[in-house]
Amino acid sequence: MELIGLTGGIGSGKSTVATLCRERGWCVVDADGIARDVVELGKPALSELASAFGEEILLADGSLNRKELARRAFVDKEHTELLNSITHPRIQEETQRQFALAREEGYGFAVYDMPLLVDNGLDKDMDCVIVVDVDEEERVRRLVASRGLEEEDARRRIAAQVPDEVRRAAATHIIDNNGSLEQLRARTAEVLDSIESESPKV
Ligand code: ADP
Repeated sequence: MELIGLTGGIGSGKSTVATLCRERGWCVVDADGIARDVVELGKPALSELASAFGEEILLADGSLNRKELARRAFVDKEHTELLNSITHPRIQEETQRQFALAREEGYGFAVYDMPLLVDNGLDKDMDCVIVVDVDEEERVRRLVASRGLEEEDARRRIAAQVPDEVRRAAATHIIDNNGSLEQLRARTAEVLDSIESESPKV
C-alpha cells in the first residue's frame, strides 16, 4: 500500500483534495478527526485530561470544553507537554490502527490528511507528499469568506504553522490552488493519476 501524505496550510483546500481522493476509492485517514475522536465523551483520554487540568474543562454534559482546555493547557511548555502526553499516544495508536485496517482491506493507496505533516516531521514516513499551495492573501480571503473567521484570527493561525516554503520543500507533488475549484479538480486528477502510474505496486 502506498502511503501518501496530504498537507497544506489552513484554508489551502486540503479537505477538498481529500474528498477527491475518497471519490477515487483511496482510503483517507483524517488526522483532525482522530484528534477529536480520542477526547470524545467516554474515552479514557477525557477523564485523564479532567484529572490533569481540572473538572472545569468539562461541559455540563461531561464532554470536552475545548476552549477551557486550550486556556489551561497552552499557558506554558510544561502544560502543553502534559496535554500531549495524554492525547498523542492515543492519536498515534488510532492512526496506526486505521492504516493497518486499510492494508487489511486491500487498499492500494492510503492518504494521511494531516495539516501538521511537515511541522511534525511526519513527511519522512510517507511514500509521497502532496502539498496544496495557495498564496497567503488568498487563503486569508477564503477563510474569512467561507469559514467566517475574523481576518486577524486567520492570519494568526497561518503564522502559527510552518512557513509555506518549508512545506513546499517537503512536497513530491504540489497542487497549486490559486485558481478556480474547477482548476483544483483538474490539477488534483492529474496528480492522483501520476501517483497511480508511478506506483510500483500497481
Ligand atoms: P483546508 O482543509 O486546507 O483548511 P478547505 O478545503 O476547507 O481548506 O478550503 C477552505 C475554503 O476555501 C473552503 O470553504 C473551500 O470551499 C474554499 N476553496 C477551496 N478551494 C477553492 C478555490 N479554488 N476557489 C474558491 N474557494 C475554494
